[in-house]
Amino acid sequence: RELPGDAQSDSFPRQVLHACYTKVFPSAEVENPELVFWSDSVADLLDLDHKEVPYARCYGGHQFSTWAGQLGDGRAITIGEILNSRLEMWELQLKGAGKTPYSRSADGLAVLRSSIREFICSEAMHFLGISTTRALCLVTTGKLVTRDMFYDGNPKEVPGAIVCRVAQSFLHFGSFQIHASRGEEDLGIVRALADYAIIHHFPHIENISKSESLSFSTGDADQLVVDLTSNKYADCIDENSLCEPSQSPFSSCAFCVLLTFITSRFLLYFLSGPENMIGESLTIDYGPFGFLDAFDPSYTPNTTDLPGRRYCFGNQPDIYLWNITQFASSLMAAHLISDKEASYAIERYGTQFMDEYQAIMSRKLDIGKERKDAWASWVQFYIKELVASGISDEDRKTSMDSVNPKYVMRNYLFQSAIDAAELGDFGEVRRLLKVMNMPYDEQPGMEKYARLPPAWAYRPGVCMLS
Ligand code: AMP
Ligand code: MG
Ligand code: MG
Repeated sequence: RELPGDAQSDSFPRQVLHACYTKVFPSAEVENPELVFWSDSVADLLDLDHKEVPYARCYGGHQFSTWAGQLGDGRAITIGEILNSRLEMWELQLKGAGKTPYSRSADGLAVLRSSIREFICSEAMHFLGISTTRALCLVTTGKLVTRDMFYDGNPKEVPGAIVCRVAQSFLHFGSFQIHASRGEEDLGIVRALADYAIIHHFPHIENISKSESLSFSTGDADQLVVDLTSNKYADCIDENSLCEPSQSPFSSCAFCVLLTFITSRFLLYFLSGPENMIGESLTIDYGPFGFLDAFDPSYTPNTTDLPGRRYCFGNQPDIYLWNITQFASSLMAAHLISDKEASYAIERYGTQFMDEYQAIMSRKLDIGKERKDAWASWVQFYIKELVASGISDEDRKTSMDSVNPKYVMRNYLFQSAIDAAELGDFGEVRRLLKVMNMPYDEQPGMEKYARLPPAWAYRPGVCMLS
């Protein structure tokens, strides 16, 4: 039986009549959570590997093109993997659950506002069709966390939270980089990780036979492809010769997934941090991020990047190339691929990116793959194409709507949702999540979430501390 009011009011003790169960909200506040008991035998029932979980991962990375050495899961803790009925393995990770050996001088915690941003945006990205880590749930901890919100040297106490992140893999490029950087002794770990990634995430690479790859080869450049495909590690970077361009973004073909992901993310005008791409081409770690409100190639949502704008929107394709180059270097350092194989994969990135870019852009405008050399001729061409295609305006609109989202998580939308959530009202967060579940659809009554930002929200690079 439905009760009025919020879910918590449903927990008062009473005789429950005419019902087999009552939906309740887990409302116990967490003061100082500590794991004191763990049952190995129950963990066995759930197939949780109790010798291995919970754990935090070691990885390294570059920050603003400078090698930062060890980074690691400073506040993320993996609590287990679940094999679902579709035989997919999903890893569950708590973000903000306390310190790890990788926390450096930070507290291992997360605050409610950035956790809400991560939760809503990762789900929004998923429904936009961009590969991303997902978010299962968010809990408030009932504890305050100290943060200097405005970098003004006046720390504030803000509500803390923990998000349960979910992905099929949390392997970073940096998971390989850190061991490659540590010299001979650790190169075996790079190989072991590459083998692990191939077996668990790209199993078909293991089974590629040379004769299969030959059938895809034509022309000079492809002669090289034949050699490359005999090296499974090179396939990890460049498997394009084996992949039809029309394959879905979620195909398990590593390089193709990477490109489709990069290009589609670029075309949705979304930006996030430099190293926040992981092995299976997922977007991870929604720290300072943003969608473009208006087309501005110099836009950077990260205030610490404002002087150089290294990661501004216009630079993103080059930054991805740089990231791929670092990944290739790690595999080279571990002697898994040759420098020839690395350069080949890297070179192809440029042309593949442009091909993919044009393909998606053409779909957005629903025209063929022809170049658009100048605006005027393009408009003429566009009108001619539309007429020649014989497709009705209505059909074209449907097709274009399916790749041009109506609802994106613009930064200003977070503001009122987070303000209310900090006062305990999560209604607006729920509404946003619901709207972002169907970003390409018309949603009557939800028009206000599709609007351009109001004037007050046009501020350069507003960064929220996480
Ligand atoms: P990011 O810039 O968010 O990718 O973080 C860079 C590094 O700092 C990663 O190793 C994070 O795990 C770590 N880190 C960020 N915030 C915290 C925090 N509050 N506590 C511990 N480690 C953190
Ligand atoms: Mg990060
Ligand atoms: Mg972060």
